[in-house]
Amino acid sequence: MNLKNTISKAVSYVKTTRFKTTLWYSSLFLLLEAMIGVAIYVYTHHSLNEQLDISLSRQAEAIYNFVSDSKVDLNDFQPDSLYASPEDLVYDLIFEAVTLNPRNTFVQVQFKDKIIFRTENLMGHRLDFPAVKTGKVDILTFNEAGLSPYTIRGAYLKKGKYKIIVAFPADLIHETLNSLKDIYVIIAPVFLIISILGGALISARSLSRIDQIIRRMDEITAQNLEETIEGEEYQDEYGRLVRKLNEMIHRIKTSIDYMNQFSISASHELKTPLTILRGEIEIALKSPKTPAEYREILQSNYEETMRLINIVDKLFFISRIDHSLIKIHKEKVYLRAYLEDILADMSFLGNESQIELRAAIQGDVAVMIDPEWMRQALFNLIDNAIKYGDIASPVIIEVSRLEGSKLEISVKNQGPGIPEEFISKIFDRFFRVESSRNRTTGGAGLGLSVVKSIVNWHSGEIKVTSEPGRETVFTIILQSA
Ligand code: ADP
Repeated sequence: MNLKNTISKAVSYVKTTRFKTTLWYSSLFLLLEAMIGVAIYVYTHHSLNEQLDISLSRQAEAIYNFVSDSKVDLNDFQPDSLYASPEDLVYDLIFEAVTLNPRNTFVQVQFKDKIIFRTENLMGHRLDFPAVKTGKVDILTFNEAGLSPYTIRGAYLKKGKYKIIVAFPADLIHETLNSLKDIYVIIAPVFLIISILGGALISARSLSRIDQIIRRMDEITAQNLEETIEGEEYQDEYGRLVRKLNEMIHRIKTSIDYMNQFSISASHELKTPLTILRGEIEIALKSPKTPAEYREILQSNYEETMRLINIVDKLFFISRIDHSLIKIHKEKVYLRAYLEDILADMSFLGNESQIELRAAIQGDVAVMIDPEWMRQALFNLIDNAIKYGDIASPVIIEVSRLEGSKLEISVKNQGPGIPEEFISKIFDRFFRVESSRNRTTGGAGLGLSVVKSIVNWHSGEIKVTSEPGRETVFTIILQSA
């Protein structure tokens, strides 16, 4: 069980950003270290060889100069007690030059066709002179296992009748490079540990604020949404993340508040007609009534039931809007016939309040609308104009063209109107002007919010102007077809 726990903890750690960042950081660090190591190795190798070549070439030149500067004319050579042959003389001269050479270099000199000098350290080995000579001093490599386990690098100078090779085994270079490798082998793991620790430290530091955010997020519930996450003041990515999260929390709070308010308002709206219904039924059951009284109670029950159905319909419609379940099918509609048809259908509502529904449409214009949904919007506006308008004064539906390709449909009525301070709230859900709450005609305050949604789907605009005690005008602005 414990092992299982440990394994699952290890697996989750491997999946963390902290682990991945450390891994990336260390790998990059190691890669960089390897690249620098290789570069140093190549550079050292190259520059050591170059220095050796320069030094060998100089020695070859020096030997030649030493021999030629001695002004010994080998062609006029006369044997004497010291030197039996010209070669002996040259040998001595070269020996003198080489003894000045502090390094144990191999030197081989040929005069005409004869090797006249070879340093002791060559131990009888003969270095081959190349057949072709390319430049001033050629750099050659020899593989003489008897002399050195490493390649031997040599400078070859051919000048006058002399051929000179000054060579040196590359063991010093190899030793230097080997020490470099050794140092690297020791340093690499140290660097690896430093890079892993460094990576872990950096990622731990940079991610600690994320941990803090996660801890705060764990504490947040629907009950404490007003509390925010700390750290908005930072101007980096974390600050931005905190700001965005706080904005999101604020949005969630707003919608939860809205939903709470919505359900409180909805239950309140449903409760009023239900209480009236219950009261009327209780009265009906309390004592026997005449058929006329029963009829009156039933009529009132019917009105309250209709009110309930109306509220439930609107609530249902609003929840469909909120869940984007409404589909719009636009078509070309000619407004004259369309509006006259709506007014004819609604005339019975006007008749009840002796209100005349009048259309003022000059010419005819077409619009691209969903006729059913727009009918619903206009129905709500006309219904309000009848409900909240003065008895016996007409409700007028006007269509006028605006500049460009726009047009407006206005619904006008006379009456108490809407006080200035409520105009901005009139389209909010469940909002009703206080005075209309007491009216029997008042609804649940949902009609205008439905109108606004329908107009919005048509990319239109809705405006209201009201002069309390005189005229109230609701205007829908649409694009003509
Ligand atoms: P309701 O269902 O209460 O009518 P609405 O959203 O349709 O809800 O209207 C909101 C409020 O706006 C109404 O309660 C009423 O006070 C006011 N109102 C709407 N239309 C008019 C109008 N034509 N004249 C005066 N007041 C109006």
